Amino acid sequence: MTYSGFHVRFEKIAMQQVRSLSFRNHKRIPDGDYAFMPMCCDDKTCDCRRALIGVLQVSPEFGLGQMATISYGWEALPFYRKWSHGLPEDMLKLFKGPALDFMNPNGPFAEALLESFVNTALDDFYIERLRKQYAMFKYKQGMKMPPELQNLVGIYEPCPCGSGKVFNLCCGKKKFSERFGRRR
Ligand SMILES: [Zn+2]
Ligand SMILES: [Zn+2]
Repeated sequence: MTYSGFHVRFEKIAMQQVRSLSFRNHKRIPDGDYAFMPMCCDDKTCDCRRALIGVLQVSPEFGLGQMATISYGWEALPFYRKWSHGLPEDMLKLFKGPALDFMNPNGPFAEALLESFVNTALDDFYIERLRKQYAMFKYKQGMKMPPELQNLVGIYEPCPCGSGKVFNLCCGKKKFSERFGRRR
């Protein structure tokens, strides 16, 4: 499975929506600003409903460094059980997260960054945003949006196809019924 940054497909929106935390005199995390950059899986047929979040340290000293990679899936555990076709339970928890992703870079401060992320950034608003970004990403890849994700994209929001128009003047206008209608 490979992953691409949401910012690669939706640069403008991603830059407006980027979440960051600043640490000064934290016991376990070096001073600096840390940006949380969501990534989605590139597999067009995979509906894994999770984001990997690269934690980048933006520091004059070190430049840009990926300090941690957080896995977060917003569905309930049974979804990942079904999706993975029998991964062991302790592995499932890593997919659902929030957890450090074991296949991607994690530095010495990764555990502390994960903890801060869970305590200060991962609120309902942010989870909703991750779900929406996932839906946009997958839609642009050509996947039908899962029904429960369809209404995440408001009609006056930027179209998930990346055209720059609002949804109801773009894919939401022409294709809503043909694209989503069949699944109802
Ligand atoms: Zn996937
Ligand atoms: Zn569109």
